Amino acid sequence: MGVPFPFERLRHLLIDLDGVIYRGDTPLRGAARFLAFLRERGITVRLVTNNATLTPQQYVAKLDAMGITVDTAEIFTSALATGLYLREHRNGTSTALVIGETGLRDAVTAAGLLAARDNPDWVVMGLDRHVTYEDLAAAALAIEGGARFVGSNPDTSFPSERGLVPGAGALIGAVRLTTGVEPTIIGKPHPLMLELALHSLGGTVEDTAMLGDRLDTDILAASNLHMPSILVLTGVSTEEEVRTGSIHPDLVVPSLGALMNDWPGT
Ligand SMILES: [Mg+2]
Repeated sequence: MGVPFPFERLRHLLIDLDGVIYRGDTPLRGAARFLAFLRERGITVRLVTNNATLTPQQYVAKLDAMGITVDTAEIFTSALATGLYLREHRNGTSTALVIGETGLRDAVTAAGLLAARDNPDWVVMGLDRHVTYEDLAAAALAIEGGARFVGSNPDTSFPSERGLVPGAGALIGAVRLTTGVEPTIIGKPHPLMLELALHSLGGTVEDTAMLGDRLDTDILAASNLHMPSILVLTGVSTEEEVRTGSIHPDLVVPSLGALMNDWPGT
């Protein structure tokens, strides 16, 4: 870690949620204080999550229940990013078959696409905990019929109280394996998600950094864009993985409290 972290250049921070701000439904130590700390310094934030199931309003409520106050505009989910992508790439009136929960469905509707099960222009997939075989069959048939295939995020699994369970990437994978068609995937580590998040706050890779807990998503997404990154060790990735792995954050901190202590001028 020869080069000092470019704190002086930072005007914006992209912050992952799970493993950084909270774990499950429990806020991590210092999370509320850290967001206030950034606000005092005029640093704008986007809370960037691959989870496409909730709407920004639902995230605001979830965080509020933990004593963390954020603005709806500060939430940036892979569902919102998918909506922005669709808005940019749709031609006139477009229809979509959506497999996903409220967050993704709302974002697709907000992008101006109409729901359709027969001959849709797009198949848009994310995590849907009520998905049926018929849904997957309809998605595959639509893609075989020429529909464009977009996935909100690549996460193949996520932790539940019972252990690891199938994520969006696992459902998307079923349709990809059926059709042989590669989807456009929006979420981290694909650069599109962070590019869209940057655009939403008017930031650049010069004045923005990514703060996350996973080397293979948060830090890889940032390094794909040549954006500075900070790994916090309160989530998935460990110091051991930093030492032995090939993905290198620009800064590693044990906690948000330690990051505040490292911040110059504090
Ligand atoms: Mg995380």
